[in-house]
Amino acid sequence: MSLLLAGRFEPVEREAWCTELRRALPDETLTVWQPGLPAGLRVAVDVAVVANPPPGSLQGLPKLRLVQSLWAGVERLLADPELPAAVPLARMVDPAMSEAMAETALWAVLSLHRCWFERLDAQPRGQWAPHSPQRRADEVVIGVLGLGELGRTVALRLQANGYRVLAWSRRAKVLEGVETLHGDTGCDALLAQAEIVINLLPLTPLTRDFFCARTFARMRPGASLVNLARGAHVVDEDLLAALDRGVLHRAVLDVFRTEPLPPGHPFWRHPRVTVLPHVAAQTDPRTAAAVVADNVHALRAGRPLRHLVDRGAGY
Ligand code: NAP
Repeated sequence: MSLLLAGRFEPVEREAWCTELRRALPDETLTVWQPGLPAGLRVAVDVAVVANPPPGSLQGLPKLRLVQSLWAGVERLLADPELPAAVPLARMVDPAMSEAMAETALWAVLSLHRCWFERLDAQPRGQWAPHSPQRRADEVVIGVLGLGELGRTVALRLQANGYRVLAWSRRAKVLEGVETLHGDTGCDALLAQAEIVINLLPLTPLTRDFFCARTFARMRPGASLVNLARGAHVVDEDLLAALDRGVLHRAVLDVFRTEPLPPGHPFWRHPRVTVLPHVAAQTDPRTAAAVVADNVHALRAGRPLRHLVDRGAGY
Protein backbone atom coordinates (compact mmCIF):
# COMPACT_ATOMS: atom_id res chain seq x y z
CA MET A 1 0.00 0.00 0.00
CA SER A 2 1.20 3.52 -0.59
CA LEU A 3 0.47 7.21 -0.20
CA LEU A 4 -0.11 9.57 -3.10
CA LEU A 5 0.71 13.26 -2.67
CA ALA A 6 -1.48 15.23 -5.08
CA GLY A 7 -1.47 19.01 -5.03
CA ARG A 8 -0.64 22.12 -7.00
CA PHE A 9 2.52 22.95 -5.09
CA GLU A 10 5.44 25.24 -5.75
CA PRO A 11 8.57 23.03 -6.12
CA VAL A 12 9.95 24.12 -2.74
CA GLU A 13 6.60 23.36 -1.07
CA ARG A 14 6.42 19.91 -2.67
CA GLU A 15 9.93 19.22 -1.42
CA ALA A 16 8.96 20.25 2.12
CA TRP A 17 5.88 18.02 2.11
CA CYS A 18 7.87 15.04 0.80
CA THR A 19 10.58 15.52 3.43
CA GLU A 20 8.15 15.86 6.34
CA LEU A 21 5.78 13.09 5.22
CA ARG A 22 8.69 10.68 4.75
CA ARG A 23 10.02 11.65 8.17
CA ALA A 24 6.60 11.14 9.83
CA LEU A 25 5.84 7.90 7.94
CA PRO A 26 9.20 6.18 7.35
CA ASP A 27 7.60 2.79 6.64
CA GLU A 28 5.25 4.06 3.92
CA THR A 29 5.88 4.46 0.20
CA LEU A 30 5.17 8.02 -0.94
CA THR A 31 4.43 8.72 -4.60
CA VAL A 32 4.13 12.28 -5.88
CA TRP A 33 1.38 12.64 -8.47
CA GLN A 34 2.39 13.70 -11.96
CA PRO A 35 0.54 13.52 -15.27
CA GLY A 36 0.79 10.03 -16.77
CA LEU A 37 1.53 8.29 -13.45
CA PRO A 38 1.84 4.55 -14.40
CA ALA A 39 -1.18 2.37 -13.56
CA GLY A 40 1.14 0.05 -11.61
CA LEU A 41 1.86 2.86 -9.12
CA ARG A 42 -1.76 4.06 -8.99
CA VAL A 43 -3.12 0.64 -8.16
CA ALA A 44 -1.13 0.46 -4.91
CA VAL A 45 -2.37 3.80 -3.53
CA ASP A 46 -4.74 3.58 -0.58
CA VAL A 47 -4.27 7.09 0.89
CA ALA A 48 -4.37 10.31 -1.13
CA VAL A 49 -2.85 13.33 0.64
CA VAL A 50 -4.24 16.32 -1.19
CA ALA A 51 -4.10 20.09 -1.48
CA ASN A 52 -6.09 21.33 -4.45
CA PRO A 53 -5.54 18.05 -6.35
CA PRO A 54 -4.85 18.47 -10.09
CA PRO A 55 -7.50 17.15 -12.51
CA GLY A 56 -7.25 13.39 -12.94
CA SER A 57 -5.13 12.84 -9.83
CA LEU A 58 -7.93 11.20 -7.82
CA GLN A 59 -9.05 8.92 -10.64
CA GLY A 60 -7.89 5.37 -11.32
CA LEU A 61 -7.12 4.61 -7.66
CA PRO A 62 -9.07 1.37 -7.10
CA LYS A 63 -7.76 0.72 -3.56
CA LEU A 64 -8.25 4.26 -2.21
CA ARG A 65 -9.48 4.16 1.41
CA LEU A 66 -8.79 7.70 2.67
CA VAL A 67 -8.51 11.19 1.20
CA GLN A 68 -6.57 13.36 3.66
CA SER A 69 -6.75 17.10 2.96
CA LEU A 70 -3.77 19.27 3.87
CA TRP A 71 -6.15 22.20 4.21
CA ALA A 72 -8.71 22.89 6.92
CA GLY A 73 -11.35 24.23 4.51
CA VAL A 74 -12.67 21.56 2.15
CA GLU A 75 -15.32 23.38 0.09
CA ARG A 76 -13.22 23.13 -3.10
CA LEU A 77 -12.60 19.44 -2.62
CA LEU A 78 -16.29 18.78 -1.97
CA ALA A 79 -17.14 20.59 -5.20
CA ASP A 80 -14.60 18.50 -7.17
CA PRO A 81 -16.54 15.99 -9.29
CA GLU A 82 -13.50 13.70 -9.22
CA LEU A 83 -13.60 13.29 -5.42
CA PRO A 84 -14.64 9.65 -4.87
CA ALA A 85 -18.04 9.71 -3.18
CA ALA A 86 -17.61 6.63 -1.02
CA VAL A 87 -14.11 7.26 0.34
CA PRO A 88 -13.78 8.96 3.76
CA LEU A 89 -12.48 12.52 3.57
CA ALA A 90 -10.48 13.95 6.48
CA ARG A 91 -9.43 17.58 6.80
CA MET A 92 -6.42 19.22 8.40
CA VAL A 93 -6.79 19.95 12.09
CA ASP A 94 -3.42 20.99 13.48
CA PRO A 95 -2.97 22.73 16.86
CA ALA A 96 -0.12 24.76 15.32
CA MET A 97 -2.56 26.13 12.73
CA SER A 98 -5.06 27.03 15.46
CA GLU A 99 -2.29 28.86 17.33
CA ALA A 100 -1.35 30.82 14.22
CA MET A 101 -5.01 31.75 13.71
CA ALA A 102 -5.28 32.89 17.34
CA GLU A 103 -2.23 35.12 16.83
CA THR A 104 -3.72 36.70 13.71
CA ALA A 105 -7.08 37.26 15.40
CA LEU A 106 -5.41 38.79 18.46
CA TRP A 107 -3.33 41.12 16.27
CA ALA A 108 -6.44 42.26 14.39
CA VAL A 109 -8.47 42.77 17.57
CA LEU A 110 -5.69 44.67 19.36
CA SER A 111 -5.15 46.82 16.26
CA LEU A 112 -8.85 47.69 16.06
CA HIS A 113 -9.37 48.13 19.80
CA ARG A 114 -6.28 50.30 20.32
CA CYS A 115 -6.66 52.20 16.99
CA TRP A 116 -3.25 51.03 15.75
CA PHE A 117 -4.44 51.05 12.12
CA GLU A 118 -5.21 54.78 12.48
CA ARG A 119 -1.76 55.35 14.05
CA LEU A 120 -0.06 53.64 11.10
CA ASP A 121 -2.17 55.68 8.68
CA ALA A 122 -1.09 58.90 10.46
CA GLN A 123 2.66 58.28 10.16
CA PRO A 124 3.13 59.02 6.43
CA ARG A 125 1.21 62.30 7.00
CA GLY A 126 3.58 63.21 9.86
CA GLN A 127 0.53 63.53 12.06
CA TRP A 128 0.99 63.46 15.86
CA ALA A 129 -2.50 62.75 17.22
CA PRO A 130 -2.28 61.17 20.66
CA HIS A 131 -5.74 62.08 21.91
CA SER A 132 -8.19 59.24 21.67
CA PRO A 133 -9.87 57.42 24.52
CA GLN A 134 -7.91 54.41 25.75
CA ARG A 135 -10.41 51.68 26.50
CA ARG A 136 -9.83 48.53 28.51
CA ALA A 137 -10.17 45.16 26.78
CA ASP A 138 -13.14 44.24 28.98
CA GLU A 139 -15.03 47.19 27.47
CA VAL A 140 -14.79 45.68 23.99
CA VAL A 141 -17.21 42.95 22.87
CA ILE A 142 -15.89 40.49 20.29
CA GLY A 143 -18.10 38.15 18.27
CA VAL A 144 -16.59 34.96 16.84
CA LEU A 145 -18.65 33.24 14.14
CA GLY A 146 -17.81 29.53 14.02
CA LEU A 147 -16.77 27.72 17.15
CA GLY A 148 -14.85 24.82 15.62
CA GLU A 149 -11.15 24.01 15.85
CA LEU A 150 -10.05 27.53 14.94
CA GLY A 151 -12.93 29.57 16.37
CA ARG A 152 -12.57 27.88 19.77
CA THR A 153 -8.83 28.65 20.02
CA VAL A 154 -9.44 32.23 18.88
CA ALA A 155 -12.31 32.76 21.35
CA LEU A 156 -10.24 31.43 24.28
CA ARG A 157 -7.19 33.54 23.32
CA LEU A 158 -9.26 36.71 23.16
CA GLN A 159 -11.04 35.87 26.41
CA ALA A 160 -7.64 35.29 28.07
CA ASN A 161 -6.62 38.74 26.84
CA GLY A 162 -9.51 40.28 28.75
CA TYR A 163 -12.09 40.73 26.01
CA ARG A 164 -15.76 39.85 26.43
CA VAL A 165 -16.27 37.16 23.81
CA LEU A 166 -19.53 35.95 22.26
CA ALA A 167 -19.29 32.95 19.93
CA TRP A 168 -21.78 31.41 17.53
CA SER A 169 -22.04 27.88 16.18
CA ARG A 170 -24.64 25.74 14.39
CA ARG A 171 -25.27 23.52 17.41
CA ALA A 172 -25.28 24.53 21.08
CA LYS A 173 -21.80 24.53 22.64
CA VAL A 174 -20.26 25.24 26.05
CA LEU A 175 -16.89 26.99 26.38
CA GLU A 176 -15.73 28.31 29.72
CA GLY A 177 -15.45 32.08 29.85
CA VAL A 178 -17.13 32.54 26.47
CA GLU A 179 -20.81 33.39 25.90
CA THR A 180 -21.89 30.72 23.43
CA LEU A 181 -24.85 31.21 21.12
CA HIS A 182 -26.52 29.29 18.32
CA GLY A 183 -29.47 29.53 15.99
CA ASP A 184 -30.88 32.66 14.34
CA THR A 185 -31.62 34.41 17.61
CA GLY A 186 -28.09 33.69 18.81
CA CYS A 187 -26.69 35.18 15.63
CA ASP A 188 -28.86 38.28 16.01
CA ALA A 189 -27.69 38.72 19.61
CA LEU A 190 -24.02 38.42 18.61
CA LEU A 191 -24.26 40.79 15.65
CA ALA A 192 -26.15 43.40 17.67
CA GLN A 193 -23.54 43.47 20.46
CA ALA A 194 -20.16 42.77 18.89
CA GLU A 195 -17.89 45.68 18.10
CA ILE A 196 -15.51 43.37 16.25
CA VAL A 197 -16.88 40.36 14.36
CA ILE A 198 -14.40 37.61 13.44
CA ASN A 199 -15.50 35.17 10.76
CA LEU A 200 -14.31 31.58 11.18
CA LEU A 201 -17.21 29.76 9.56
CA PRO A 202 -16.60 27.07 6.95
CA LEU A 203 -17.80 27.89 3.44
CA THR A 204 -21.01 25.90 2.88
CA PRO A 205 -24.23 26.55 0.97
CA LEU A 206 -25.65 27.99 4.21
CA THR A 207 -22.76 30.37 4.91
CA ARG A 208 -21.89 31.57 1.37
CA ASP A 209 -22.61 35.34 1.03
CA PHE A 210 -23.33 35.48 4.78
CA PHE A 211 -21.87 38.99 5.06
CA CYS A 212 -24.32 40.82 2.81
CA ALA A 213 -26.24 44.08 3.19
CA ARG A 214 -28.86 42.33 5.37
CA THR A 215 -26.23 41.08 7.81
CA PHE A 216 -24.39 44.42 7.90
CA ALA A 217 -27.71 46.08 8.79
CA ARG A 218 -28.04 43.70 11.76
CA MET A 219 -24.53 44.53 13.03
CA ARG A 220 -23.83 47.07 15.74
CA PRO A 221 -23.33 50.45 14.05
CA GLY A 222 -19.62 51.19 13.55
CA ALA A 223 -18.56 47.56 14.07
CA SER A 224 -15.55 46.09 12.25
CA LEU A 225 -15.33 42.83 10.31
CA VAL A 226 -12.32 40.51 10.43
CA ASN A 227 -12.68 37.83 7.75
CA LEU A 228 -10.23 34.98 8.29
CA ALA A 229 -12.31 32.19 6.71
CA ARG A 230 -13.24 32.41 3.01
CA GLY A 231 -13.73 35.26 0.55
CA ALA A 232 -17.10 33.97 -0.66
CA HIS A 233 -18.55 34.58 2.80
CA VAL A 234 -18.55 38.28 1.92
CA VAL A 235 -20.47 40.13 -0.78
CA ASP A 236 -17.73 42.60 -1.74
CA GLU A 237 -20.03 45.36 -3.07
CA ASP A 238 -22.18 45.22 0.09
CA LEU A 239 -19.12 45.45 2.30
CA LEU A 240 -17.78 48.46 0.38
CA ALA A 241 -21.19 50.15 0.59
CA ALA A 242 -21.42 49.49 4.34
CA LEU A 243 -17.92 50.96 4.86
CA ASP A 244 -18.64 53.99 2.70
CA ARG A 245 -21.94 54.72 4.44
CA GLY A 246 -20.28 54.41 7.87
CA VAL A 247 -22.40 51.39 8.81
CA LEU A 248 -19.12 49.56 9.38
CA HIS A 249 -15.90 51.09 10.69
CA ARG A 250 -13.20 48.86 9.16
CA ALA A 251 -12.57 45.51 7.52
CA VAL A 252 -9.53 43.29 7.95
CA LEU A 253 -9.61 40.73 5.14
CA ASP A 254 -7.30 37.74 4.74
CA VAL A 255 -9.35 35.90 2.11
CA PHE A 256 -11.03 36.92 -1.14
CA ARG A 257 -13.41 35.64 -3.80
CA THR A 258 -10.52 35.73 -6.28
CA GLU A 259 -7.02 35.04 -4.98
CA PRO A 260 -4.60 36.67 -5.50
CA LEU A 261 -6.83 39.73 -5.08
CA PRO A 262 -6.88 41.34 -8.58
CA PRO A 263 -4.76 44.53 -8.85
CA GLY A 264 -7.72 46.79 -9.62
CA HIS A 265 -9.95 45.57 -6.81
CA PRO A 266 -11.29 48.46 -4.66
CA PHE A 267 -10.23 46.67 -1.44
CA TRP A 268 -6.57 47.40 -2.25
CA ARG A 269 -6.99 51.16 -1.99
CA HIS A 270 -9.89 51.55 0.41
CA PRO A 271 -8.69 53.63 3.39
CA ARG A 272 -10.49 51.42 5.88
CA VAL A 273 -9.74 48.00 4.44
CA THR A 274 -6.65 46.04 5.47
CA VAL A 275 -5.67 43.36 2.95
CA LEU A 276 -3.68 40.28 3.95
CA PRO A 277 -2.59 37.71 1.32
CA HIS A 278 -4.31 34.62 2.86
CA VAL A 279 -1.71 34.19 5.57
CA ALA A 280 -3.82 34.08 8.74
CA ALA A 281 -2.92 30.45 9.44
CA GLN A 282 -0.97 28.41 6.95
CA THR A 283 -0.52 24.63 6.97
CA ASP A 284 2.99 23.95 8.21
CA PRO A 285 4.40 20.66 6.85
CA ARG A 286 6.59 20.35 9.96
CA THR A 287 3.55 19.86 12.21
CA ALA A 288 0.85 18.86 9.72
CA ALA A 289 2.77 15.74 8.58
CA ALA A 290 2.27 14.29 12.07
CA VAL A 291 -1.50 14.87 11.74
CA VAL A 292 -1.47 12.97 8.44
CA ALA A 293 0.63 10.22 10.04
CA ASP A 294 -1.88 9.81 12.91
CA ASN A 295 -4.68 9.13 10.44
CA VAL A 296 -2.57 6.79 8.31
CA HIS A 297 -1.65 4.81 11.45
CA ALA A 298 -5.34 4.75 12.47
CA LEU A 299 -6.30 3.43 9.02
CA ARG A 300 -3.63 0.71 9.11
CA ALA A 301 -4.62 -0.33 12.67
CA GLY A 302 -8.37 -0.28 11.95
CA ARG A 303 -8.92 2.52 14.49
CA PRO A 304 -11.47 5.30 13.87
CA LEU A 305 -10.21 8.03 11.52
CA ARG A 306 -10.02 11.58 12.90
CA HIS A 307 -11.31 14.90 11.57
CA LEU A 308 -13.68 13.35 9.07
CA VAL A 309 -15.73 15.75 6.97
CA ASP A 310 -19.53 15.53 7.17
CA ARG A 311 -20.24 15.78 3.46
CA GLY A 312 -23.90 16.53 4.06
CA ALA A 313 -23.10 19.54 6.25
CA GLY A 314 -20.25 20.59 3.94
CA TYR A 315 -17.52 20.85 6.62
P1 NAP B 1 -14.60 23.58 11.92
O1 NAP B 1 -13.83 22.96 13.04
O2 NAP B 1 -15.31 22.70 10.98
O3 NAP B 1 -15.66 24.58 12.62
C1 NAP B 1 -16.70 25.20 11.93
C2 NAP B 1 -17.58 25.94 12.92
O4 NAP B 1 -18.57 26.69 12.18
C3 NAP B 1 -18.34 24.99 13.86
O5 NAP B 1 -18.43 25.56 15.14
C4 NAP B 1 -19.73 24.94 13.21
O6 NAP B 1 -20.80 24.69 14.11
C5 NAP B 1 -19.86 26.34 12.67
N1 NAP B 1 -20.84 26.40 11.59
C6 NAP B 1 -20.84 25.73 10.42
N2 NAP B 1 -21.93 26.04 9.69
C7 NAP B 1 -22.63 26.92 10.43
C8 NAP B 1 -23.85 27.61 10.23
N3 NAP B 1 -24.58 27.43 9.12
N4 NAP B 1 -24.29 28.44 11.20
C9 NAP B 1 -23.56 28.60 12.34
N5 NAP B 1 -22.40 27.99 12.58
C10 NAP B 1 -21.94 27.16 11.64
O7 NAP B 1 -13.69 24.55 11.06
P2 NAP B 1 -12.28 25.21 11.46
O8 NAP B 1 -11.20 24.21 11.42
O9 NAP B 1 -12.45 26.00 12.71
O10 NAP B 1 -12.05 26.19 10.21
C11 NAP B 1 -12.98 27.20 9.85
C12 NAP B 1 -12.65 27.77 8.48
O11 NAP B 1 -11.49 28.58 8.56
C13 NAP B 1 -12.27 26.73 7.43
O12 NAP B 1 -13.40 26.13 6.87
C14 NAP B 1 -11.50 27.56 6.43
O13 NAP B 1 -12.38 28.07 5.47
C15 NAP B 1 -10.97 28.73 7.25
N6 NAP B 1 -9.49 28.74 7.32
C16 NAP B 1 -8.83 29.87 6.93
C17 NAP B 1 -7.45 29.92 7.02
C18 NAP B 1 -6.68 31.18 6.66
O14 NAP B 1 -5.46 31.17 6.63
N7 NAP B 1 -7.35 32.28 6.40
C19 NAP B 1 -6.72 28.83 7.52
C20 NAP B 1 -7.42 27.70 7.90
C21 NAP B 1 -8.82 27.66 7.80
P3 NAP B 1 -20.88 23.30 14.94
O15 NAP B 1 -19.81 23.40 15.97
O16 NAP B 1 -22.22 23.32 15.52
O17 NAP B 1 -20.62 22.20 13.93
